[in-house]
Amino acid sequence: MKFCINNVLVVGLGLIGGSLAKALKHRRYCRLVVGYDRNPAELEAGLALGVIDEAAHDLRQAVAAADLVVLAVPVKATDAVLAEISTALRPHTLLTDVGSTKGNVVAAAEAVFGCLPATFVPGHPIAGSEKSGVAAADAQLFERHKVILTPTAASSTDATLVIARMWQAVGAEVLQMEVARHDQVLAATSHLPHLLAFSLVDTLAAEAANTDIFRYAAGGFRDFTRIAASDPTMWHDICLTNGDAILAQLDRFSAGVEKLRQAISSADSQAMLGIFTRAKASRDHFSRILSSSAYSQNQHNAAVSYRAQQGTALTGQVRLPGDKSISHRAIMLGSLATGITRIEGFLESEDSLATLQAFRDMGVVIEGPHQGAVKIYGVGLQGLQPPPGPLYLGRSAMSMRLLCGVLAGQSFDTELTGDASLSSWSMEQVVRPLRQMGAQIDTAEGCLAPLRIRGSQSLQGIAQQLPLPSAQVKSALLLAGLYARGTTRVIEPTPSRDHTERMLQGLGWTLERSRGQVALQAGGQLQAARIDVPGDMSLAAFFIVGAAISPGSELLLEHVGINPTRIGLIEILRLMGADIEFDNATEVSGEPVADIRVRYRPLQAIEVPGVLLARASDELPLLMAAAACAEGTTWIRGIGELRYGLDTLLQAVVAGLDELGVEALVGAGSVCVRGGPIGGGALSATGDYRVALAFVALSLRANTEFHITECACLEAAFPEFVALACQAGFRIGKERD
Ligand code: NAP
Repeated sequence: MKFCINNVLVVGLGLIGGSLAKALKHRRYCRLVVGYDRNPAELEAGLALGVIDEAAHDLRQAVAAADLVVLAVPVKATDAVLAEISTALRPHTLLTDVGSTKGNVVAAAEAVFGCLPATFVPGHPIAGSEKSGVAAADAQLFERHKVILTPTAASSTDATLVIARMWQAVGAEVLQMEVARHDQVLAATSHLPHLLAFSLVDTLAAEAANTDIFRYAAGGFRDFTRIAASDPTMWHDICLTNGDAILAQLDRFSAGVEKLRQAISSADSQAMLGIFTRAKASRDHFSRILSSSAYSQNQHNAAVSYRAQQGTALTGQVRLPGDKSISHRAIMLGSLATGITRIEGFLESEDSLATLQAFRDMGVVIEGPHQGAVKIYGVGLQGLQPPPGPLYLGRSAMSMRLLCGVLAGQSFDTELTGDASLSSWSMEQVVRPLRQMGAQIDTAEGCLAPLRIRGSQSLQGIAQQLPLPSAQVKSALLLAGLYARGTTRVIEPTPSRDHTERMLQGLGWTLERSRGQVALQAGGQLQAARIDVPGDMSLAAFFIVGAAISPGSELLLEHVGINPTRIGLIEILRLMGADIEFDNATEVSGEPVADIRVRYRPLQAIEVPGVLLARASDELPLLMAAAACAEGTTWIRGIGELRYGLDTLLQAVVAGLDELGVEALVGAGSVCVRGGPIGGGALSATGDYRVALAFVALSLRANTEFHITECACLEAAFPEFVALACQAGFRIGKERD
């Protein structure tokens, strides 16, 4: 069915109908915008204000002449208007509406037409104001607002498309929903808050001292009750037409208020903090989604690029944000421990916040983060509760892999989802051995997210030999092992990072450990403790390489984690001649920590020893950057045995080096880089923060400016990156598209 829209008729020329008519007219969507209203004064005003081209005085005649009819009357008036116009509609005339409730509109159409026409596509713009009438018509009202279309089973695809395009033409974003779902969702997100605002004002206004209450009302009261100034008739109609869904929401809300009441009457601080911290976190998350920032999907897709200029020497001292791997584990194990865990130095990145939110969603009360401080009211191994919906983990593969282990042992079902990038990562390395332990995990094809993990499975410890070292796979198995019968043993060809093991021991779980092997016996308990998260070694590696390649540098990095499984790069750089010292070495929360002092000294190319490489696999791009500034050709061999997915990473760095005029070759399991002058150019970090760090480090030695695209990943991993880099002496600026 093809539609040609010349003549649009808007029935009901109030705020919404008038705004749509005015917007269509301004955008020249069609040849003629006609208005009809039962109130002649509104029609006159519509004409005088330029909202419509023509005023219709006979509704049926106007309908017969229209190509598209939009019903913008109050929802309770829809039945009568439909009955009046049904026989005047031509077979190809499209029909839509703007009503705030949809079930009643569809029921009215069914009653009038017998069976629903293919040309009928109900809709609802999520935009409005407290004003009514055509005088309030605003041609920009729908810009960047959502419009929900609820096509019926009979609505034709072509008709739906035309209505969607009409809304897009006035600047709206169009979504589709089923009728019943629309009414449920709107009852919660729009109808309930409006009714609460009406009820609060009504209740307070009834009090004797109401004048004082209103006179001294603080901003909270004004903000909360702004919507109580909306049109009473419209809300009366909405309550009558969507009563069931609204009552269900009111009952849920009343139960929530009762819980808060009980918490206050029994002075239950933990319960009160639980409600407030969960609500605050959800509200913050919601605000970020609205502003397209933080760990919403929009953020990851936003294009961030850096312009980096030849830097000065790196000097002074820098305190780095907390270690990413340890931050994730601190939230997980603190939640599963008994008692209150206090974390200092928590990394407030999108990834670690995704882990934090997942545990909040499973009922754990978590205060903060506030300047790196987090307080977790641990619920014990068996204390997690079913989350209200899927756990959304953004782009954080670490959260997803580790959580698989925890969730495999729960008594309830869970679903793990993430953004497009996370959903393209295979979870097979984790899922396969967990299934061997008895976990029930369904995945999308190719072992991709979403993952559905079935609860109440009985897990059995296994001895798992990993073909390649992987801290995430090892950790997932150990976390599942907390819930399994017997012993869970993980054997690796070379030891991967051991933060999980150290933290488990720090929280009181005994492990059997030897080089490349760890065994965990079920049946223990985790006891809350203070966790001091040291500075992140992956980020420290960036500053260390920067200072090692930039003449005149002398930089001090304070309180950095120097876990032996993480300092392979430092040992390699020392072999290349770098001047790197550890001062004030000590141990905090089971992790070795030191201040790292780096002074510039020219680097010499080497053949990198394989034994060190295994402990520097995440820092390979930075190692290649250092090699590009060294005297001679550096060889890195044996990469194939390091870990999964390194080939793509190395290809990205080699492509960038090539652009900068540096000779580099990647072969089967090996890379060689010949040191030399660094040009400038346009580079892509390919969405991998490790590649981005290497390119930014190289800018210190460049002849001209670098433009590095696809750096949003680095922002997500280390929100303070640009500020810290500039503090040390880098000259970089951020650009966001
Ligand atoms: P409004 O400003 O009061 O406009 C409604 C207009 O329709 C009035 O001029 C009214 O005339 C007229 N009308 C009533 N019955 C009629 C009939 N039988 N035939 C012809 N005209 C009739 O209301 P609105 O805010 O635009 O709301 C219109 C629709 O949009 C409602 O279905 C509402 O649910 C929906 N909506 C509203 C908002 C919002 O924020 N306001 C947001 C989204 C959707 P009288 O003045 O004589 O009654």
